[in-house]
Amino acid sequence: MSKPHNFSAGPGILPEEVLTQAAAAVLNYNNSGLSILEVSHRGKDFVADMDKATQLVKDLLNIPAGYSVIYLQGGASLQFTMVPYNLMKVGGKAAYANTGVWASKAQKEAKLFGEMIEIASSKDKNFSYIPKGYEIPTDLDYFHFTSNNTIYGTQYRNFPESKVPVVCDMSSDIFSRWFDVTKFDLIYAGAQKNMGPAGTTMVIVKDEFLGKSGRQIPSMLDYKIHIEGESMYNTPAVYPVYVSMLTLQWLKDHGGVKWIEEINRQKQELFYTELDNNPAFIGTASKEDRSWMNACFLLKDESLDAEFSKLLKEANISGLKGHRSVGGYRASMYNALPLESVKVLVDVMKEFGRKVG
Ligand SMILES: *Cc1c(COP(=O)(O)O)cnc(C)c1O
Repeated sequence: MSKPHNFSAGPGILPEEVLTQAAAAVLNYNNSGLSILEVSHRGKDFVADMDKATQLVKDLLNIPAGYSVIYLQGGASLQFTMVPYNLMKVGGKAAYANTGVWASKAQKEAKLFGEMIEIASSKDKNFSYIPKGYEIPTDLDYFHFTSNNTIYGTQYRNFPESKVPVVCDMSSDIFSRWFDVTKFDLIYAGAQKNMGPAGTTMVIVKDEFLGKSGRQIPSMLDYKIHIEGESMYNTPAVYPVYVSMLTLQWLKDHGGVKWIEEINRQKQELFYTELDNNPAFIGTASKEDRSWMNACFLLKDESLDAEFSKLLKEANISGLKGHRSVGGYRASMYNALPLESVKVLVDVMKEFGRKVG
């Protein structure tokens, strides 16, 4: 059976070349005759690969001196805790923009450490848009937002202007488009959406932002400890880091973030043009805030669900089911998804439109 067109929202698609290399390393890592799953993380091979995984992030995003890159475990969800633990001062205050389930979960954890103020929210319309035009106060330890809302299919086109340090959850759109890292003080991303497999979370942090909270931080939750340990304070997620490194190397070899941004632009344009022109479908996100990574849509007539699903199946399309809180469908078009897969989906949408139209 040929490989399905994989529109999964996460863990998401990885490049074929990466899967081939990753599979080979399970049996024979760097010609050692050993599996990558059974060697020391402190051996010279993996130490070199961890360095590479870190350096590739710096190269791909043009990160200047003064920032550290680390690989952690616990998912993006642990960052919801680590961010306020490390960055909110005792008796301090942070502002959050609420644009969906993940943003809300981040807010919930921040409340455990100090004053969390919600300065913007799109909850009134089931998170179908990105709030704009709000002022970010200046008496904050930081401002937190989520650049791409994986579940609702909205994405910031322009980042908010802030005079206080900015923290961003970029789990589902990191490396998908060019941006200026220096506008941020901390960025985190679970690998499994757009940069690798599940099991590791990448953090970029401005060094001078750390060590000011006045809190005692448990070692495993302290960014400084992980920076000093070069992501090896304890045993890292060896294989997820390795496969992330391969994926970043793939991106770099093909032309980097600006190269993939152009392809991502073409993919979303192809998809949304069809969505807007085909009366059988309705997009759920406000047009100006549509995500290039996750496109959420409904059938105009939901009773035709089985019919549409049948066409998807015949076209070998997988992973299109929407999140339970939005329903309908979600086409996740991460970096590794070929333009060709979007063409196949658009053809199915056209055929469906002709049949039911
Ligand atoms: C998936 C996702 C998360 C949660 O990631 P885990 O690694 O499962 O903790 C957080 N934020 C965003 C934007 C996500 O897409």
